Amino acid sequence: MARVLGIGIATLDIINTVDGYPAEDAEVRALNQQLRRGGNCANTLVVLQQLGHHCAWGGVLAAEADARPVRQDLERHCIDLGATRIIDHGKIPTSYITLNRRNGSRTIVHYRDLPEFGYADFARIDLRGYDWLHFEGRNVAETRRMLGLAEETVPGTPRSVEIEKPRPDIERLFPLAHILLFSRHFALAHGYEEPRRFLEAVAAETPAVPRFLAWGEAGAYGLDHDGRLCHSPAYPPPQMVDTIGAGDVFNAGIIDALLRGVAPQKALHQACRLAGGKCGREGLGGIAPLTRELP
Ligand code: ADP
Repeated sequence: MARVLGIGIATLDIINTVDGYPAEDAEVRALNQQLRRGGNCANTLVVLQQLGHHCAWGGVLAAEADARPVRQDLERHCIDLGATRIIDHGKIPTSYITLNRRNGSRTIVHYRDLPEFGYADFARIDLRGYDWLHFEGRNVAETRRMLGLAEETVPGTPRSVEIEKPRPDIERLFPLAHILLFSRHFALAHGYEEPRRFLEAVAAETPAVPRFLAWGEAGAYGLDHDGRLCHSPAYPPPQMVDTIGAGDVFNAGIIDALLRGVAPQKALHQACRLAGGKCGREGLGGIAPLTRELP
């Protein structure tokens, strides 16, 4: 199995489940409340670990009580925290999530007061120990330098970059990635309501690398090395329970499939199947049995 290094954030998620999304200024009672460890990169690693890979996380934790459950969860999932930077001020990034039980939608208010994992932290890691490098597309200037260092030192190691939110200059990361993982949010924010048109526009400006675009209940789209468009429908679970982290599970599904030598078209189906299965259950536990080889 592969050794995967992920660079990004881990968060504390405070999830209130409600029976229907509240109107503004309403006061409603939550059906239940859960505290979970979240964060895009950390979620993706926890899923990859369950799929049999050895994962390490490069990120920042604050030395404060709310960070403890985050650390414990990563340890429970055997994520290597050797590259983690612990700082004695700040707050663990926290996502306040309203989860609508009727349709599984999740609305997030995020708060952070913590420095980002930077180039200097990354440069201390021996990259030769990894078969795959995954980056969250954030902290653009520093991430660009990290990608550049990876190109210099381990040019043959695949580098996936998740592009979830629009951020200034984020396009500057595209040419340094071997695999680009886009979100619907990003495409919509750039005015593309048509997945194909978004992927073609990106393709016109970037080297020919596989690009994937998750599209919620409509599944996901991709462009392979040759610019061929592919699509997978979503695989909805019998009952929609929780879509929190579906995109992170999708990304893990793509990385896992590509690590196993699966072609992009089939990787898209496998990732949608995994993410759809996740939507039928709470949290990210018990993911491995959801992977089934496609014919
Ligand atoms: P995010 O979690 O980042 O908002 P998406 O909503 O695009 O990401 O979902 C990621 C993947 O999860 C989709 O490509 C799809 O395979 C799966 N998925 C999400 N919502 C549903 C749904 N309602 N039914 C089935 N699968 C879904």
